Amino acid sequence: MRLIFLGPPGSGKGTQAKQLGARLKIPQLSTGDLLRAAVRGGSELGKEARKYMDAGKLVPDDVVIQLILDRMQEPDCTAGFILDGFPRTLTQAEVLDKAFKAKRIKIDGVISFEIDERVLLERLTGRRVCPNGHGEWHIQFHQPKQAGFCDECHAPLVQRADDREEKIRVRLDAYRADTEPLKKFYGDLKLLRPVKAEGPLDAVAREIETTVGKLS
Ligand code: AMP
Repeated sequence: MRLIFLGPPGSGKGTQAKQLGARLKIPQLSTGDLLRAAVRGGSELGKEARKYMDAGKLVPDDVVIQLILDRMQEPDCTAGFILDGFPRTLTQAEVLDKAFKAKRIKIDGVISFEIDERVLLERLTGRRVCPNGHGEWHIQFHQPKQAGFCDECHAPLVQRADDREEKIRVRLDAYRADTEPLKKFYGDLKLLRPVKAEGPLDAVAREIETTVGKLS
């Protein structure tokens, strides 16, 4: 099963991709997570990417494309994967399409997370993440076992630099300008499957599972 999760920041696609990936036993490939790992590792790529990420802007296509194509070569991707946060521009989608055609593999479906912008703002400003990359929680909607601390490594949770309100607006603008046109791209390919992403986690998860169950 090869899926793409498409949606604005804060739509819950990362959380849902992790859950569904675990259930289908396929990895969730998040370019955001890969980039944050590169930033934590202090590589040249990480240093370069950080400038864009902290500003809420998209990292240049060539950097992200290389990162994800390399990741997809790893053995755990043979049975499939869920792309989370990639592609985010038409160029990325076109390169991905070419890479898949060259390998004679196909995407089964693109789950499009439909959600109101007011809900996004509320979700993003309340999001807190583990500084060691173990996951994310919300001060109200998805609390950790001990308030303010990671369930896995118990590190104090932090707010992402790009989750501050002024950066969120930049990210939402980037989404509208660069990523939303992908709906037409995948709609034309008959791959787009819209899902209402505003309800509680479990309800959204069920809708995604039903939608994915109807694919192929
Ligand atoms: P995310 O965790 O998906 O919200 O991504 C966090 C940040 O990483 C984004 O705001 C971008 O700066 C960068 N990023 C993640 N995925 C991409 C992508 N496909 N193209 C460009 N930049 C990306």
